[in-house]
Amino acid sequence: MLSQTGLACICWFCLNTALFPFPPLAGLVSRIQKRFFKIIRRIPFIGASIQAQLNKALDDMSVSICSLKNGMSYMQTLPKLGLSQEDVLEKIKEYDLLSEVQWQKGMVSGTVYSGDEKLTDLLVKVYGDFAWSNPLHPEIFPGVRKMEAEVVRMACTLFHGGPESCGTVTSGGTESILMACKAYRDMAHDRGIKHPEIVAPMSVHAAFDKAAHYFGMKLIHVPLDPKTMTVNVKVMRRFISRNTAMLVCSAPQFPHGIMDPVEEVAQLALRYCVPFHVDACLGGFLIAFMAKAKFPLAPFDFRVKGVTSISADTHKYGYAPKGSSVILYREQKYRHYQYFVAPDWQGGIYASPSVAGSRPGGIIAACWATMMYMGEDGYVDATRKVIEIARFIEAEIRKVDGVFVFGKPEVSVVALGSKVFDIFRLSNALTSKGWNLNTLQFPSSIHICVTLLHTKPGVATQFIRDVKEQVAIIMKNPKEKTTGMGAIYGMAQSIPDRSMVTEVSHGFLDCLYSTNVHSSEQRHLNGISKAQ
Ligand SMILES: *Cc1c(COP(=O)(O)O)cnc(C)c1O
Repeated sequence: MLSQTGLACICWFCLNTALFPFPPLAGLVSRIQKRFFKIIRRIPFIGASIQAQLNKALDDMSVSICSLKNGMSYMQTLPKLGLSQEDVLEKIKEYDLLSEVQWQKGMVSGTVYSGDEKLTDLLVKVYGDFAWSNPLHPEIFPGVRKMEAEVVRMACTLFHGGPESCGTVTSGGTESILMACKAYRDMAHDRGIKHPEIVAPMSVHAAFDKAAHYFGMKLIHVPLDPKTMTVNVKVMRRFISRNTAMLVCSAPQFPHGIMDPVEEVAQLALRYCVPFHVDACLGGFLIAFMAKAKFPLAPFDFRVKGVTSISADTHKYGYAPKGSSVILYREQKYRHYQYFVAPDWQGGIYASPSVAGSRPGGIIAACWATMMYMGEDGYVDATRKVIEIARFIEAEIRKVDGVFVFGKPEVSVVALGSKVFDIFRLSNALTSKGWNLNTLQFPSSIHICVTLLHTKPGVATQFIRDVKEQVAIIMKNPKEKTTGMGAIYGMAQSIPDRSMVTEVSHGFLDCLYSTNVHSSEQRHLNGISKAQ
C-alpha cells in the first residue's frame, strides 16, 4: 500500500522538479511558481489528481498513526456508571498496548530524554503530593510558588544571570518563545513601531512562526551559511530595520544541532539597540554543563552582553516530565512586557505571568524535584554521557561513504545528508530496522537527537552498524527511486503552493481526533469530492 503511493508520488515528484527546479524560496521565482501552480490546480483533472495523491498519502499516514488493534473501539460517551479504580487500571492497559515504537530501548531520536525509573518513581510521588495545587492561587499553595521561584532562580544562575535576572516557568518551549516574542512586540509598540519584525535564522524553531502568526508580527528568515549551517550574520545585519523588534539565535538549532554565532549577533543587537533572544530550548540544560563536562563552548548566555532573554526546556535535557520550560530575562523591565493584567474584570483584578490562567502545580513540583534530584553533578554526568555518544556517532558517520554530516555539531544532534542518493531512502531503511529518526527539509536530511536512552550499552554501536549496513545496500543502486514515507517527504517539499501542504496537514491533525474505527475510506471520499 505504501509503496504504491510512493510510486505515484515519485512520478509527481519528477514532474514537479522538472517544472520547478528551485526550492520554494521567498521571492519572485516563488511567487511566479505559486501563481502558476494555483492555475494548474484549477484545471479539473490535474487538480483532482494532485489532491487525490495527497489524500492517499494522508490516508496511509492516518492508518499508521490512528489504527486500533483487533477488537478495540473508541469511547463515544461517558460510561453510564463510573468505573472502579481497578477497572480503570485494567482498561488503561489497552492504551499501553497500542504503542509499537520501542522508545525505552533508545530507538527514537529525542522525544524521551531520560526514562530513568528511579526518577519516574520520584515524579509520580511528587505529582501526587501537589496534584491539586495551582500557582494561580499563591495564598493557598505557597509551596508551589516557592518552587516556581526557585526553578527560575536556579536556571538564571546556570545561565549566568545577574541579580536583576528573572523569568517565569511556562508549559514548554513553545510557550517560552511565545512569551519572549510577545514581550518584545509590546516593547516595540511602546517605541512606536507599528509593524514589529522578528529577525531570525532560517533554522529557527517553528514556534517563532507561531508567535509571529499569533501576535501579528513579521518573521524575517535569514539564510544560513550552507557549509556551517550557522546564520549568515552579514545578511542578518542587512535585514535589521526601523521595524526590528528582536533578533534570535539558537543554541543549538533543532534541524542540524548547530550553535549559532551568539557573540557576533550580540554585537548587532548592541549596535542597533534591539533585544536579542537565545533559544536554548533544546540544548539549554546541556550547554550549561558542557564546560564542566570538559566540552567547552563559546559563550552563549547572559555573560554575552546584548543577550536579553533565554528560553530553556526543563522538559528536554532538564529531564523533567513534559509540560515545563523556563523563559529568562536579563532584567525585570523585559519580564513586565510579558505579563498580562485585566484591572477591571468583574471577577477581580486579574494578573497572570504567561499564557495560561490556572496552571498545573504538580508539574512545577515535579520539575523542581527533578532539578533537586539531578543536582549539578547529575547534570554534568548526564551531559558528558550524551555528548560523548553524539561525538562517537558523528565520528563514525563521517567514515561512511555516501553520506555527510551537516556543519560541526557541538551538542547532541547529528544531521545527515547525501550527495549521492536521496537521504530519505536511508530514513525508510532505518525505520524498517526499528529506528525512528527526524526527517528534515530544505535541504533533505535526517537527524538523530541523542538522549540518555542512547547512552545505554550497545545502543549507539547498533545504530552505527545499521547505518553502515543500510548505506552500503543503498550505494549499490544509488539512483533508485524513493518509496513510502520518504517519497512523501520528498513530494511535500517540492510543492510550490504551500497552502496545499497546509491543507493536507489540517487533515492530519483532524485524524488525530478521529474516533471512527474505519475512518480512512470515508475521509478519502470527502477529500476527492472537495477537490472537484
Ligand atoms: C523543542 C524545541 C523548542 C520548543 O519545543 P516545545 O515542543 O514547545 O517544548 C524550541 N526550540 C528548539 C530549538 C527546540 O528544539
